[in-house]
Amino acid sequence: MFIVEAPPGAGLDLEAMLAPLGHAIQRVSAGDAVPRGGSAGSPACVLIDARSDWTTGFETAFHLRATPELERTPLLLVGKTPCEEAALLRGYALGRVDFLMEPLHPEVVRAKIRTFLELRRKEDSGHEAQARAGHAEAQARESERMLHTLLGNIPGMVYRCHREPPWPLVYASEGCRALCGYGPEDFTRGDIRWGDLVPPEDSARITKEVQDALAARVPFTLTYRIHTRSGEERWMWERGVGLYGPEGKAEMLEGFITDVTAFRHAQEERERLLARQQSERDRLESILQQLPVAVHIAEAPSGRTLYANEEAERVLGHAMLETTCINDFARYRAVHPDGRRYKGEEYPIARVLLTGNPWSERDVLYSRPDGALRIFHLKAGPIRDRQGQLQAVVAGFVDITELKRSKEDQTFLARVSNTLASSLEAEATLSQVVRQCIPHLGDGCFLDLVDPEGGLHRLAVAHTDPARELLVRELSRRYPLQLEAPHGPAAAVRTGETWCEPFVDDAVLSRIALDAPHLELLRALGITSMLSVPLRARDQVLGVLTFIHGRPDRHHDAQDRRVAEDLARRASLALDNARLYDEAQAAVRVRDEFLSVASHELRTPLTPLQLTLATLARELWRDGIASQDARARHHLDMARAQVRKLTALVGALLDVGRLNHGRLALELAETDLGEVLREVANWFALEAAKAGSNLKLEYSEDTHGRWDPLRLEQVVTNLLSNAIRYGAGRDIHARAEDLGDQVRLTVRDEGIGISPKDQERIFGRFERAVSGRHYGGLGLGLYITRNLVEAMGGRIQVESQPKEGSTFIVTLPRAGPRTESEAAETTSRPVKVHGAVGAHTDGAGSGPG
Ligand code: ADP
Repeated sequence: MFIVEAPPGAGLDLEAMLAPLGHAIQRVSAGDAVPRGGSAGSPACVLIDARSDWTTGFETAFHLRATPELERTPLLLVGKTPCEEAALLRGYALGRVDFLMEPLHPEVVRAKIRTFLELRRKEDSGHEAQARAGHAEAQARESERMLHTLLGNIPGMVYRCHREPPWPLVYASEGCRALCGYGPEDFTRGDIRWGDLVPPEDSARITKEVQDALAARVPFTLTYRIHTRSGEERWMWERGVGLYGPEGKAEMLEGFITDVTAFRHAQEERERLLARQQSERDRLESILQQLPVAVHIAEAPSGRTLYANEEAERVLGHAMLETTCINDFARYRAVHPDGRRYKGEEYPIARVLLTGNPWSERDVLYSRPDGALRIFHLKAGPIRDRQGQLQAVVAGFVDITELKRSKEDQTFLARVSNTLASSLEAEATLSQVVRQCIPHLGDGCFLDLVDPEGGLHRLAVAHTDPARELLVRELSRRYPLQLEAPHGPAAAVRTGETWCEPFVDDAVLSRIALDAPHLELLRALGITSMLSVPLRARDQVLGVLTFIHGRPDRHHDAQDRRVAEDLARRASLALDNARLYDEAQAAVRVRDEFLSVASHELRTPLTPLQLTLATLARELWRDGIASQDARARHHLDMARAQVRKLTALVGALLDVGRLNHGRLALELAETDLGEVLREVANWFALEAAKAGSNLKLEYSEDTHGRWDPLRLEQVVTNLLSNAIRYGAGRDIHARAEDLGDQVRLTVRDEGIGISPKDQERIFGRFERAVSGRHYGGLGLGLYITRNLVEAMGGRIQVESQPKEGSTFIVTLPRAGPRTESEAAETTSRPVKVHGAVGAHTDGAGSGPG
C-alpha cells in the first residue's frame, strides 16, 4: 500500500492510522513514480493525499490509472474540503476510485482501506485458483499424452475389466493387439471377451486365484495360456488389482498383462534340462550306490565332501567326516605300515587335489574305529571341467583284507600240499608241515599222533622263538597229553571236533595247568590264543594239530579255523594215504612172495612131467601106436600143448619174481632176429591156423645182433601169441628189418586194437585192456617183453586204433645193451618189475619132439 503525500511528511498521520491493519505501507511524494509491481505485485491500494490541493490529487490519480500495471489498483483520494461534483464524477469515471473527506476518523479510514485490502485478497486468490487450474489442466494433458505414449509402447496391455469371467474389457491399451491379435476396439465393442481366449482348463484356476486375491484385498498375479486370434497358444503373465466400490465390493479389475511365452518356453526348457540333469544325477547316484566299490568325491580345492556312497561308510566303519580343507583329512584313520597316522596331505584325494594328477592303484592300511585294521585297494583321479579346470577329485576303493588274507591262505595251503605230496614218508613230511605252519597259523605249532594203543605221542614241535620251542618240548616231555583233559588237543582228539580258545588269559591257563610248575611253564610260553584241529580219516581220529599265538594282538578267528581245518583235512589224507600205501606195499610183498613160492612149487613137478611126456611120445611113435591110432596121437598132442602152456605161465610168474628181485640176467650171444622170428612163427603156425589167421613173414638179409637168444625168442613169442589172440582171425604180418646199427621187429595184426588211453598202461605188471571173460591171460606178457627189450638196449612201442588192429615195434641195437652190468641193472629196476606169458615154449605141434 502506498501513500502519495504532498508535501513530504503530510501523510504521516495516515500511516499512523493504518498501522494497526498490519499491512506494509510505503509513502511516496506526489510526482514520484509509484512502483508498478515487484515481488509483491501491484499495490493493494494507493492513498492519494489531496488535502493540500485537489488538482494535484486528481492529476496523480489520472497518471496512476494510465499506468497499465496500476489500471485496476483501487485509488483513495483524501481531501480537506468537499470537491466539486464535476471533479468527483470525473474521478469516479476512472473506476475503482473513492474519496474521503476530513475530518478523518481513523476507524472509518481503516474500514475503507480494509475493504480494499479484502477486495484485493479475493482478487488475488481468484487469480491464483485460475492459474492453478490452468496449470493442472496442462499437466493432465501432458500426463495423458505421456500415458498414451507409454501404454502404446510397453510390451503388454493395460486393461480394465469386469470382475467376473469372462472378464469383458471396458478398456484395453493398444498393446493387446500384439498380445492376442485383437485390437482394443474388438474388446470394448464386446465382439470378444478376454475370458474367451483362455482355455477352459486354465479358467477355473484363474477365477479362483482372482477371487481369493479380491477377498483378501491384495493384488493378484496370474500365469496362464490364451489362444490368439490366429489360434496360436501363448503364455500370459498378469498382475492386477480390484477396484472397490463405496460399499467395499470389488466392481472392476485393473491391471497389466504381458506375453511371457518366450520366457515360459525358456523356463520350460530350463526345467526340462534341470529335470534331465537331476535324473542323470539320480541315475549316477543310484549306480554309485549299487557299486560294490566305495566312492568318495571331494570338491576342489577345498576337499569338502560332495558325495560318498553307503559302501564308503561301510568300508570305513564310520560316517564321512566334515572336511573343509586338506588338513581336515588327517581326521580320517589311514595308517602307514609302522602304525603312524597319515597327515592330511598324504591322503590320496589330497594328493590329487594338490597336484591334479591321478593317483595310481595302491593299497592303503586303515585302522577302523572298531579296532580292525583293513587293507583298501584305492585309486583316485581328477574331475575337470571343459576348460580343464580341476573341479573335484574322485576316489574309489575296495576292502581287500579278506581277499588278501585268503590269497595268503591259499598260498600257504598250496605250499603245505606240495610238501605233503612230495613224499609218502608221512611222519617226516608232517614234521616239515608243522614248521611251515608258523607264523601263518600261530607263533607255535605242534602235532600229536594217535598211536595204535590209543595214546597220543608228540611227533613234531615248532615255534618262531627257539627259546619257546624248547619250552614246548619240555612241556611235552614233562606233561604228556592226557586224553581225558576237557580242553586243548586232547579234547579235539576225543570229540573229533575243533577246539579253540581265542582269548587265553591267566584264568584259562590256571584251568589247563595240572600243577604249579606246569602253570609256570604255560605262563612262560605267553599263550594268547590256542587252536586244536583233529586229523580225521575214514571216521578215525589220527592225530591233532595245535596252534598257539604268543602276542597280545593275535587271536585265532573263524578264518583261521577254516584254514586250519582245511590243512588238517589235507594232512589227514596224506597220513591216511601213506598208511594205506604202506599196507598195500605190504600186501604186494606178500603176494609176490606167494607167487614166487607158488611158481617154484609149480615148476618142480612140471619138468619130470615134460620128460615123461617126451618119453611117452617117443615110445608111442616107436611102437607105431601114434602113427596108427589118431585118438592116441590127439591125446598126446593135447597133453603136450597143455604142459607147454602151463610151463609158459609158470615161466612168466618166475620171471616176475626174478624181475622183482633184480635177478633176471641175460646171456648175450650173437643172435639172428630173422632166424628167431622164423622159428617162433613155425611153432605158432598151427595155433594161427586154428584161429583163422595167416602168418606172413618178411626178413631183411642181415638181422644179427648181440642179444640173449632165449629172451629174444620170448619177446617174439609174446608179440606173436598176442597177435593171434587179439587178431580177430585176420592176417598177421611180422617183419625183421635191417636199420643199419639197429634191427627192427614189427608185428602187425588187423584185430581188436587198443584204445589210446590204454596204450601205455598195458606194458605194466598185470595190466590188461580186455575182459578176462573173453580173453584169458595174466597181463604179464608185455610187461616182461618191455623189460627184456630194454634190458637188451632196445625199446618197444605200439601204434593202434580200436578195431583197426595193432602194430608193436621193437627196435634193438645190434651191439646189445651198452654194458653188461647195465643190462643186469636195467632188469632189476624195481618199478618196472612184472611178468609175462608165452615164454619158454618147447616147440609147437605134434611130432617126435
Ligand atoms: P595178456 O595178453 O596175457 O593179457 P599182455 O601183457 O601180453 O597180457 O597184454 C596186455 C594187454 O594188452 C592185453 O590184455 C590186451 O588187452 C592188450 N594187447 C596186447 N597185445 C594186443 C594186440 N595185439 N591187440 C590188441 N590188444 C593187445
